Amino acid sequence: MTDVFEKGKRSEIMSRIRSRDTRPEKIVRNLLHKGGYRFRLHRKDLPGRPDIVLPKYGTVIFVHGCFWHQHKGCGRATIPKSNEEYWVPKLKRNIERFEEVVVKLRGMGWKIVQVWECETANIERLSKKLDAMLRKGGKR
Ligand SMILES: [Zn+2]
Repeated sequence: MTDVFEKGKRSEIMSRIRSRDTRPEKIVRNLLHKGGYRFRLHRKDLPGRPDIVLPKYGTVIFVHGCFWHQHKGCGRATIPKSNEEYWVPKLKRNIERFEEVVVKLRGMGWKIVQVWECETANIERLSKKLDAMLRKGGKR
């Protein structure tokens, strides 16, 4: 079967489909990379499969979509009124699941940083936040 999309276009489409390589996550990775931080991705052996793991700093980073994790007070977290009975319990489960993951990871001694999708719109501010979070914890 011939691919109707040229190679570049195809991979662009594929990367949009794969939820792992979301754009906000890439932005965070680029920032860490520029800052000289070493990290690993999607460690399956950790609860909640953190998006980014910085072993040296004992820190895991979750990059969360504002809607899917209901970023409080954020314009992107608005639930469609027409479908509330579907979304409210669904999103509530997302949040609860993450809370359980946080408890488990803390119990294992990890520090958890949550980066919101909307925060990746302001690279400079996000960079400062990450630096502050990572420096505060210190190296292991
Ligand atoms: Zn947000």
